[in-house]
Amino acid sequence: MALKRKDFLLIVGILFFLIGLMGVGLPPIYAIIISLAIYFGIRIFVGRRKKMIEESVGEGICVKCGSKIENQKCPICDRKKFGNV
Ligand SMILES: [Zn+2]
Repeated sequence: MALKRKDFLLIVGILFFLIGLMGVGLPPIYAIIISLAIYFGIRIFVGRRKKMIEESVGEGICVKCGSKIENQKCPICDRKKFGNV
């Protein structure tokens, strides 16, 4: 995975945070562990949010009613079409 500008900014931000933690007298090893935890936490959070956005718009929306398409079906229009499915 290529390092993007956003990732670079995140790393710079974490580094400043790391320096700040050491500045308040925290032992460097704890500062590094906390910084790494936050870094990976943000990466996982961003990754999940991106996946959620991809999932929510991935199949598109119904042209008739604007509902989210699930399993290539509109939950509203296809329910009407097939009765009580
Ligand atoms: Zn629809």
